[in-house]
Amino acid sequence: MTPDTSPDTSPDTSPARLGDAGLLEPALRAEVREWIAANRIEGLDPGGAHEPYDHEKTATEVEWIGRLRAGRWLCLSWPPRYGGRGLTGVQCAVVNEEFARAGLPRPHLGMGETLLAPAVLAYGTDEQRQRILPRILSGDDVYCQGFSEPDAGSDLASLRTQGVVDGDEVVITGQKVWTSGAHHANMIFTLCRTNPDAPRHRGISYVLVPMADNGVEVRPLRQMAGAFGFNQVFFAGARAPLDNVIGGLDNGWRVAMTTLGAERGGNATTQHLGYDRELGSLIELARASGRISDPILRQRLARAFIDVRLMEYAGLRLLTAMSHGDEPGPAASVDKLFWSEYHRRFGELAMDVTGTAATVRPDGPGYEISPFQRVFLESRARCIARGSSEVQRNVIAERVLGLPRD
Ligand SMILES: Cc1cc2nc3c(=O)[nH]c(=O)nc-3n(C[C@H](O)[C@H](O)[C@H](O)COP(=O)(O)OP(=O)(O)OC[C@H]3O[C@@H](n4cnc5c(N)ncnc54)[C@H](O)[C@@H]3O)c2cc1C
Repeated sequence: MTPDTSPDTSPDTSPARLGDAGLLEPALRAEVREWIAANRIEGLDPGGAHEPYDHEKTATEVEWIGRLRAGRWLCLSWPPRYGGRGLTGVQCAVVNEEFARAGLPRPHLGMGETLLAPAVLAYGTDEQRQRILPRILSGDDVYCQGFSEPDAGSDLASLRTQGVVDGDEVVITGQKVWTSGAHHANMIFTLCRTNPDAPRHRGISYVLVPMADNGVEVRPLRQMAGAFGFNQVFFAGARAPLDNVIGGLDNGWRVAMTTLGAERGGNATTQHLGYDRELGSLIELARASGRISDPILRQRLARAFIDVRLMEYAGLRLLTAMSHGDEPGPAASVDKLFWSEYHRRFGELAMDVTGTAATVRPDGPGYEISPFQRVFLESRARCIARGSSEVQRNVIAERVLGLPRD
């Protein structure tokens, strides 16, 4: 009998390899495990690689976030005086691994935590940090990102939304688009041109604008499949105190680059955990349907497995760099390009493994689609969101490899 030399495509779904080796932060690991044992809630979905764009939090998820808040397991890297634990990147990764090992999500508090806070920590005054960060942590302020405009996406510096200083306020007029989650937010961090005579990248300010009763209109953009996660936002003389300008008037471009860096780098060190889970369920589906015996699908599953391992090892390299005090910088574009293109291929693979059922909407209310159908659709959008693949390649060419500008 010919031995089966085909690759075993079973993923090693044990996420906490470092923990198994006991290499890093044993005291912190023990603290997380103890807390989880005392506080865990059943029925929580650890989630795949990305939360769906239009996900509405369930009561259980809201309760879980409340417990994490009380246990101080949110906003881990923030300095303790703003409500965080002051954890290093390595320590944050360790905490995330422990939650993943327990099959539990460790949610973040949206764009306020992931995109705005790094900019406020880097460029805000101490008064701004003390005022802004605790309100994100408490959930009193939920932020959305108002950067893109109808004619300013990849070329963000061509933005036209106007900001005029009036006494101790900025008055904002203009239009933003693709504003994810604006319908759930009460605050928007936005870019406006406060000095039209300055060169393109100067004269832009980064402003936090209250959205209620303030001349800010949110219009949902409903997608073909019925769901909506993003919006158009219109500013008609919306007012924000000058105290809400981060990094100083006309100096918003540098601040925005910190937000975009955080957006591209994301959670590079632990993101493979979600991809591992997703791939594991696809392999289970392939086994259950017998499609695992199709050599071409096996090959593609094996490639997906290798890609996730590459993400894992790249994450470990980044951890090592971070533990020596290095920041990812423009190399974050390599990570964004890799995970988004991987996920697009994965979505296509998931449809092929699902077979003809992939073309049919499952029974359910509204425009319900299956998790894999959702990955297929949303993964394409993620190759555009946060800077398109083409733009990431330009950044890598020019700022990582030092090639001439196009
Ligand atoms: C799902 C989703 C969520 C989003 N959420 C938000 C949000 O919350 N807040 C926000 O502000 N924005 C958001 N965006 C907008 C996103 O940042 C922009 O869509 C993105 O920056 C691209 O801009 P654009 O859509 O104007 O396309 P364009 O910039 O017009 O690009 C069109 C095409 O040209 C290509 N291209 C452009 N410039 C170059 C170049 N120099 N070289 C080679 N090719 C180029 C692009 O890759 C793309 O294929 C979101 C987008 C998506 C898809």
